[in-house]
Amino acid sequence: MAVLLFIIGIIFGSFFLVVGTRLPKGEDAFFSRSKCDYCNHKLKWYNLIPILSYLFQLGRCSYCNKKINLEYIIVELITGILFVLCYIYFPIGYNFYVSLIICSLLMIIFISDFKYMIILDSPLVISSILIIILKIIYRGFNETLISVISGIALFFVMLLIFDIGKLIFKKETLGGGDIKLAFVMGLTLNFYLGLVAIVLSTFLALPYAIASLEIKKSNAFPYGPFLCGALFLVFFHYDKFINLLNFLF
Ligand SMILES: [Zn+2]
Repeated sequence: MAVLLFIIGIIFGSFFLVVGTRLPKGEDAFFSRSKCDYCNHKLKWYNLIPILSYLFQLGRCSYCNKKINLEYIIVELITGILFVLCYIYFPIGYNFYVSLIICSLLMIIFISDFKYMIILDSPLVISSILIIILKIIYRGFNETLISVISGIALFFVMLLIFDIGKLIFKKETLGGGDIKLAFVMGLTLNFYLGLVAIVLSTFLALPYAIASLEIKKSNAFPYGPFLCGALFLVFFHYDKFINLLNFLF
């Protein structure tokens, strides 16, 4: 089962890279054929087998012989590992399926936000719908309703932070995608743990923000990966964070 999930993860990872790279540029993610980044040669199916093609072609394009960007293999491997991690952490059921969705969202947001400073709407919408369906099936309608309300509430908390930031700093401090991502966080974690995740994300982002300010002299950086990273951490350590909340309040 773990091996199967690793293979599925690799295939999905390869798809997430296409989604995270092509959609922000307005390109089609499903029907346009993959091309070599350098010679633009259309790739055949046997050039597109995740990891295996890379190994057999010795990491080079079989048409122009340029080195294939390592990010392909890195994204594929990390997604494979994350999917196996979901299986190790959770028995097959609600938490397992949702953890797969969170890992998928994490990968897509990492790619698109670090590359283009964009969080795409479509992965957020698809994840939300899938999580709501899973929640209705496994947890019932009432609990789902509470989660949806939690998501909306967290969305408005983020919007409030955004407005306050705009008032104080006279410019936009969060992206629209960050605010929409808060809905998914509330939906998955419910309100209080969602808040915990937002607070946690600021700690995760702090070293990167400081480094970005020092090295790139820029105070703009992608925040989505840290929000989604916090969602991942809190979801995977749900009980510990619940205990922490109970201990504090
Ligand atoms: Zn090439």
